[in-house]
Amino acid sequence: MLLAWALIGATRRQTAHFRSLVSASSDLVVVFGPEGCRYASSSVSEMLGKPEAELLGAGFEQHVHPDDLATFRAASLNGEPRELRFRLTNRFGEERHIEAVVTDLRRDRHVRGIVLNTRDVTERIALEEELTRQAFHDSLTGLANRALFRDRLDHALARSVRTAESVSLLLADLDGFKAVNDSLGHGAGDELLRHVARRFIEAVRPTDTVARLGGDEFCVLMEGTDQDRAEIVARRLLDTLADPIRVADRELQIGASIGVVVHMGGAASSEDLLRHADVAMYAAKEGGRGRFEVFRYEMARELGQLLGLEHEMRQGLLQGEFSVHYQPEVDLGSGNVVGVEALLRWSSPTRGSVSPAEFIPVAESSGVIMQLGEFVLESACGQAAAWRRAALLPSPFRMWVNVSAKQLSMGGICQQVRRVLADTGLPAECLGLEVTETAIVTGGQPLERAQAELRDLHGDGVQIAIDDFGTGFTSLGQLRRFPVDVLKVDRSFVQGIEHDPKDAAITANLASLAHALGLKAVAEGIESKGQLASARKLGCDLAQGFLFARPAPAEEVVAYLRPGASSIPPDEHARDERAAATRP
Ligand code: C2E
Ligand code: CA
Ligand code: CA
Repeated sequence: MLLAWALIGATRRQTAHFRSLVSASSDLVVVFGPEGCRYASSSVSEMLGKPEAELLGAGFEQHVHPDDLATFRAASLNGEPRELRFRLTNRFGEERHIEAVVTDLRRDRHVRGIVLNTRDVTERIALEEELTRQAFHDSLTGLANRALFRDRLDHALARSVRTAESVSLLLADLDGFKAVNDSLGHGAGDELLRHVARRFIEAVRPTDTVARLGGDEFCVLMEGTDQDRAEIVARRLLDTLADPIRVADRELQIGASIGVVVHMGGAASSEDLLRHADVAMYAAKEGGRGRFEVFRYEMARELGQLLGLEHEMRQGLLQGEFSVHYQPEVDLGSGNVVGVEALLRWSSPTRGSVSPAEFIPVAESSGVIMQLGEFVLESACGQAAAWRRAALLPSPFRMWVNVSAKQLSMGGICQQVRRVLADTGLPAECLGLEVTETAIVTGGQPLERAQAELRDLHGDGVQIAIDDFGTGFTSLGQLRRFPVDVLKVDRSFVQGIEHDPKDAAITANLASLAHALGLKAVAEGIESKGQLASARKLGCDLAQGFLFARPAPAEEVVAYLRPGASSIPPDEHARDERAAATRP
């Protein structure tokens, strides 16, 4: 372009030379005088599809987009602004974006005009727009992404300060999406998200913004919407999911939990609003899913406590506030201790001793369970290996470690267990994992990855127990296909086995189910001699409970490991049978 300007200032003798150079350049050069266009390079007339003569005077302006005409005139008449962008309609009727550098050469006696050195930037702009679109849109669903959503929310809130108009957010998190992803694969998961996006878009006004904030989280921004209206839309979003969605040749029923926040105008930060929407969404999930909740400040206080707990747990793990206690597991036939269950303990300097029933769920929902789970596994395997090296273990002996659903669904448990066994030198035959039914099967669907990892570990010699058995919904078919060794009958049934015929019948059934599948049945939470007698009578093979020992630190538990150390009388009946078996 510089070359072109220099040449424009050349002498008249050089004009012919200049013309030919400029015409050959792909840049578009136009010179304006008070009467309008005075010169247009051949590339210009080629682009506009008109001979130069027709572009002179007012001819060029006719191609300029009417909206850009004012700025264009200012530049071509007065030389200001020095740089501008305008649109031209080319000979095919297409709109082209033109970028121009304006040079005022009115005082140059060779030119006496204003030179627009222009360039067609249509393709570049299209590319920029595409890149911007990609940067601000979710490539999967085409919805606004988090960045664009934040931007729109910030603008809406800025407007709200001026106009006192309300701003509403609906934060929707799909219920059970993970199960779809895990069981049908990510392709199906993606397809489902696209369907949901389409339904949500159809359920709102064109002026509302629907965004996918990540994963299975969607958010709707509405301006000038009061609470009643926000609730109507929230209900509509839930209704749009009522019809099953066809994905991967299946009809899927997916629900959502929605948090609603209505900001009634005035100053507010987008972070606060999003956090409040999150709190309300969380409350909707807690309240039973498939519903919406409108944010209330009490909710924030409740969640604040949970969030505080999460932070304290992470700190506590670093500060050594967590430890592992062990509870013996007794063979009801021999009366011997045949294993221990590792149970996590937290002694917090501010909260005192916190029950796992309280902190495990928070650890699960916040993800801290991954670190805690690894800590328990390392501690328990390390302890068992130390006992074994010191020849303190009875034979057989198994260290049982609880593995949460989250640990399994995140993947990598197989690798982690193998690493810990290798690091501690504990044989796989000395380790058992306790998993709950829901961790391996969800909604009747097997969680393939979790099952595969456990199957691999089982192949190594690690045993698998189903914990709290009877409280989930594992189908028999699932159990048969899955490598389980032990069913732990939930304490809620064991509690009543002595006096409540229903609990006794359930326990007996669970025990005989275990035996039919070739598994052992453990009665959890035996507290009295009466319960012990009933558990034996009902067919349980093993037991755990306060009657034998409370969970205790390793130093105390070691005393129970010596054969015959437990104060439990062996089962007379079983002893008779064994005696009969050894009789010649
Ligand atoms: P769980 O796996 O069913 O563990 C058995 C619970 O019953 C333990 O509670 C144990 O102390 C308690 N218990 C044992 N015998 C008796 C008894 O005779 N009577 C009564 N009333 N209770 C008895 P704890 O230690 O409070 O743990 C509660 C739950 O927290 C555990 O239930 C388990 O689901 C979870 N948990 C504990 N430690 C861990 C861990 O390291 N990882 C994971 N993922 N979960 C853990
Ligand atoms: Ca357990
Ligand atoms: Ca249990």
